Amino acid sequence: MNPFVLNTEQLIEQDIAHHLHPVTNLHRHKRQGPLVLVEGKGSKVRDSEGRWYIDGFAGLWNVNVGYGRQELVEAARQQMARLAFQPTFFGLATPPVIELAAKMHQLLPHHSHFQFTSGGAESNETAIKIARYYWALSGKPEKTKIISRRMAYHGIAMGALAATGVPAYHADFGPLPPGFLYLSAPLAYRNNPGLSEPGFVAMLAQELEDLILREGPETIAAFIGEPVQGAGGVVPPPEGYWQAIVPILKKYEILLIADEVITGFGRTGEMFGQTTYGFQADITSFAKGITSGYVPLGGVGISPQIFERISAPDRMFMHGFTYSGHPVACAVALANIAIIEREQLWVNAAERGAQLLRRLRELEAHPHVGNVRGKGLMALVEVVEDKGSKKPFDAARGIGERLMQVSREKGVIVRCNDTGFAIAPPLVITEQEIDELVNALAETLDEVLGA
Ligand code: PMP
Repeated sequence: MNPFVLNTEQLIEQDIAHHLHPVTNLHRHKRQGPLVLVEGKGSKVRDSEGRWYIDGFAGLWNVNVGYGRQELVEAARQQMARLAFQPTFFGLATPPVIELAAKMHQLLPHHSHFQFTSGGAESNETAIKIARYYWALSGKPEKTKIISRRMAYHGIAMGALAATGVPAYHADFGPLPPGFLYLSAPLAYRNNPGLSEPGFVAMLAQELEDLILREGPETIAAFIGEPVQGAGGVVPPPEGYWQAIVPILKKYEILLIADEVITGFGRTGEMFGQTTYGFQADITSFAKGITSGYVPLGGVGISPQIFERISAPDRMFMHGFTYSGHPVACAVALANIAIIEREQLWVNAAERGAQLLRRLRELEAHPHVGNVRGKGLMALVEVVEDKGSKKPFDAARGIGERLMQVSREKGVIVRCNDTGFAIAPPLVITEQEIDELVNALAETLDEVLGA
């Protein structure tokens, strides 16, 4: 039963007429219109015409527990019925936000305190502002610059956008806030000039140290990085990368912000990417998987040292959002984390992730697949015009658009662009669904780019 009044044709017409889509070619959308999705179960979603797809992108890397979880519906319903909203400004709190902060401390014990937001960009804005505030209250107000990396994605609000290292997101939205610096992405396929893996890591570490010394460590507040870069192109770092980066940051008193918006809550095969890669950040930002997208929520955790410093006498912490610690979102987060823990979904992410990568690597035989990479249940199939020179396809050829059309015809939804496929299914995906997904992508490649 469809509770909405419009049929598919009318929905498409009204979408084209009135809905401004994010990260969409608006010109093309006038002609193509939306794919309207109405229902989900496990790793599958159904469109308004009754067709089911494997959601190989888990919404937007976030529906970790899969669709149709009645426990999450019930958690939201009960909290909405009892107390729909109270803020967390001025020392106010509700039981769900307190319990969620305590739960997050259990999951990330190197962080003592947590503040919540409505998503990833707000979390990174919060992290960046806390880093600057920390240094200001430490008597070092000139420590303000933020080091990021090319191919990083930290969100599209102005500060998070400035930290994002993907030029397409910056174009024509300037001026961006100043004080953001960019290092190379730790992507061997494009950036390793032929060194061994330890040699490549040493090169990246040297680049960081050179940048710090050039800018002056007394001007740098923090380094922000995703344990595995995601939206900018899925970059699992080389072995030993974080072990090389972290001591340099410590040496020059630069805070480390781990952006776990995608990697958090099981996706890399452990609950957090920091566990997968064996390091601990001073500040962690998270979102997406904390509620599996059932309602919006994000947040940050901070170290006890930072908390001690910023809880100085006579200072109000003048930062926060109306929806910081929204009680309904926090109640859903608690129920969602309980599912992830009960079902140990990070284990399935590791096992199905290994299967996914093994199967995707078969595609490297294709004449236009330049590189396949991934960690846990996040992966990328990079297509190139020419494998020898690694030359990307010309945008005018519209390869991304074709990959999207054909893969959807074959019953799978993944993110497609001119770089290829990004894949990040729900952590509940089954062995058979992984096979179906990869088979559909293989057929799509053959159809769009020739066998
Ligand atoms: N950080 C990372 C690592 C992300 O992948 C994203 C979103 N894809 C964000 C931040 C921004 O999150 P949001 O879109 O919820 O603001």
